[in-house]
Amino acid sequence: MDVRNVIIIGSGPAGYTSAVYSARADLKPLIFEGSVTAGGALMNTTEVENFPGFPDGIMGPDLMDNLRKQAERFGAELLADDVVEVDLTVTPKVVRTATDTYHAKAVILAMGSGYRELGVPNEKRLSGHGVSWCATCDGFFFRGQDIVVVGGGDTAMEEAIFLTRFAASVTVVHRRDELRASKIMQDRAFANEKIRFVWDSEVVDVLGESKVSGVRLRNLKTGEESELPATGLFIAIGHDPRSELVKGQVELDDEGYIKVDSPFTRTNLDGVFAAGDVVDHIYRQAITAAGTGTAASLDAERWLSDHD
Ligand code: FAD
Repeated sequence: MDVRNVIIIGSGPAGYTSAVYSARADLKPLIFEGSVTAGGALMNTTEVENFPGFPDGIMGPDLMDNLRKQAERFGAELLADDVVEVDLTVTPKVVRTATDTYHAKAVILAMGSGYRELGVPNEKRLSGHGVSWCATCDGFFFRGQDIVVVGGGDTAMEEAIFLTRFAASVTVVHRRDELRASKIMQDRAFANEKIRFVWDSEVVDVLGESKVSGVRLRNLKTGEESELPATGLFIAIGHDPRSELVKGQVELDDEGYIKVDSPFTRTNLDGVFAAGDVVDHIYRQAITAAGTGTAASLDAERWLSDHD
């Protein structure tokens, strides 16, 4: 049986960075990149201005292509395939795709998380052209502009309040007539002069040819539709960690994020490590994912040398 030192599942900043470190430690890692979304969340965006080392910014897909090449340069083996099943409780650990079975001493989980989408017609097409899921990432691009935020929870209020630093106005669109957010976040949002609320309404379409020019709203009580001009649409209705694959084996928190023994990246299973947004529901940045990817590789490397 061919037993690898380390298999990495996921190809975002966490997975590729783990791959760079594991490859440079001569562990000859095998990385499953996914069949459709190799490169992770940044493949869906345009300019990334906050990844250190790129003073002029870099396009998300170019950054991921660089990271991929960097991993390959040191001998990481990359497979554009989905892992569909794992058994991480046995030795060696078992990783399966639809067609093949692989074995490894250690496994690094870096499957990321998916931002929930509205599922309306032009949302995907205008992603990175006015539609965003991350105020920390993109707020800066919307200086002096009118922005719509969708959502009613703490994250939506946090995003709305943060965006008022840049925006001329922020309109929060919420499906109900009251917020889910904590009292303190609600109070802060209500007190902010730049924020206004449109209640009982949902976004049914994103308007604009090459850039967002507004949204079409439907009032859920009256059924009436209207257009709201805006150049930015921030969707803050939650995210889902991609942890289904390891559910029942690796310990997850109530929201499905993988639990690690922080500041280490080890999970409850010996030889299984996790990094990036599948663990992190606080920071959710490319550089923090890359950082924990590094830590996971170093943790795996030490674990392997202790178990040889
Ligand atoms: P991801 O990037 O989500 O990558 C995980 C990968 O693993 C995916 O390709 C997935 O398909 C793959 N995978 C999952 N399950 C499997 C499986 N079973 N088998 C094989 N492969 C699998 N952050 C910034 O710092 N700056 C920005 O400007 C910025 N802009 C953003 C813009 C957008 C539109 C979005 C959505 C996010 C943005 N972010 C930004 C956030 C950043 O992209 C994420 O924090 C980061 O990508 C998380 O990295 P990750 O490696 O944990 O996971």
